[in-house]
This record gives sequence, C-alpha cells and structure tokens, in this order.
Amino acid sequence: MSTKCPFCESENTRSYLKLKDYFLSQEDFEIVACDDCKLLFTTPRPDKSIIGNYYKSEDYLSHNEHKKGLVPWIYNQVKKVNIRNKYKTACCGYNSPTILDFGCGVGDFLHYAQQKGCEIMGCDLSEDARKLASEKLGKTIVTPEKIFALPHSTFDIITMWHVLEHIDDLKYQTEQLYRLMKDNGRLVIAVPNYMSYDAQYYKDKWTAYDVPRHLNHFHKESLQNVFAGKFELEKIHPMKWDAYYISMMSENYIGKGNSFTKGIITGLKSNCKAHKTGEYSSLIYVFRKI
Ligand SMILES: [Zn+2]
Repeated sequence: MSTKCPFCESENTRSYLKLKDYFLSQEDFEIVACDDCKLLFTTPRPDKSIIGNYYKSEDYLSHNEHKKGLVPWIYNQVKKVNIRNKYKTACCGYNSPTILDFGCGVGDFLHYAQQKGCEIMGCDLSEDARKLASEKLGKTIVTPEKIFALPHSTFDIITMWHVLEHIDDLKYQTEQLYRLMKDNGRLVIAVPNYMSYDAQYYKDKWTAYDVPRHLNHFHKESLQNVFAGKFELEKIHPMKWDAYYISMMSENYIGKGNSFTKGIITGLKSNCKAHKTGEYSSLIYVFRKI
C-alpha cells in the first residue's frame, strides 16, 4: 500500500530513500516521494506528543551557542557572516519593515534586524529557545499558535531559516503565512537542497535529511508547488557555507575520521558543481505575495 502525501494527499507515491536517525535515536525511517506535488516527506512521522524527544540533545547546535570543539566554532563564526547576508537578502529595499521570523530559535537573526531598526516579532516551538530569545531581544517570543491568532496583513516580511522542513501541517501553516502577510509582502525561505552534490554523494548519511526532525525535503519545483497561487518565486540565493558544514557533519556519520578535511573537499566540490547547476547544498528562496 502506498503512503499518502501529507501535503496534496495523493497516493501516487514511492520510496525514495531508507535511512536512520543517525544524529540521536538510531531509529529507522524512510523518505517517500510524491509524484504529483513532488514533495519528499519523512515516514513514519512521530506524533506531536513525542516529536520533542527527538530534539533533546546537547548537540542540537541551532539551540546551542556554547559548545566547544572545532565544528561548533566554525558553525558559530559562519553563523555571524550568514546573519548579515540573511538580513541583506530579507530586508533589502525596505525601510524599518515589520518582520516575523517564524521559528526564530535563540533569536540571533531578529537581534541583528532589531539593531537595524526593524519592527520585530518571533515565534518558536521550543520553550528553551523562546526563553533565550526573549532575554536577548527584550521582547516576548511566542508560540506559533499565538502568531496564528494575529490579524490579517500584519507583516511586510516573513522569514523561515531552515524551518519549513520541520513543519508537519504544511498546508495550514502556509495558508496562515499568506493571511498574515501584507499585500505584496516578501517571504524568505531557506531549506536544504537534496539535489545538491553533497546530498547525492552522502546519500542516507547526508546530515541535512536529519530525520525525523526534518519532515519535508524540498527542491525548487516542490517548494513552488507548496506556495502555488499564494506566492510567486522572485529569486534564489545560494548558501555556500552550508556545503562545508553539512559535509563535515555527514563525514562524522560515516565515522572514518578526518571529517574536517574530507568535509572541506566535498563541500568545495559541491560548490564548484553548483556554480554551473545552481544546486547548492542549501538555498534561500525569495517569494512575493501574489
Ligand atoms: Zn503530494
């Protein structure tokens, strides 16, 4: 029996890749492809009541700023450069916009945007992240439910930095984002790209599959299908640093040593190939509300 697509509900689906949660639980999962909307999705999908257990690790770097070691150090340095680039991509052409960072984590992007004079709002599912972000920003960071209770046309810009791949009810949440966005507003989505060279090279060990924390896996076509009729794609920007970081982490899963050097080499190869194909390890998609 085929698995139903969680987005378009088609049963025209097939197995794409079998893999494990190498990061934490070591449990088996499968990625399934929908041949109608082209979405790749993780199955089985842990119930909402237990999904939090898969995030409970000292190593979950997006929520951990003080971990020691070479890879976390590089991660944090690159993060600083990335934040500046993210700000430029999201806010260019706007003067003091109202911006929502959906899934804001510990609030680093919002902190930068706040310093630049933006009117900021953020939400995150993680209570720990909300607490840290609220302290950093001097402003209460809320749950996504609170954001969905806000009036229509609240935001000029909505950003989701590596968040959409974590979302279970894609259909409902994309409708909410559309409703909350002002006319002609800008939606900025960063997601891993499974068509990149590093994804093809590491296969089931590619860190950015990150099952079951990542429930959806996107490519240009499937991402446009998710927002069809609501948002129009304007631009795609590469995230070149991700190729190195993801490759180093993937080498750790292989566990044959020299993950730093091997990761740099594969990351470099990935970026060189993507220079021709556009298939970088992660991509930032800039959409405009229709
Ligand atoms: Zn589908």
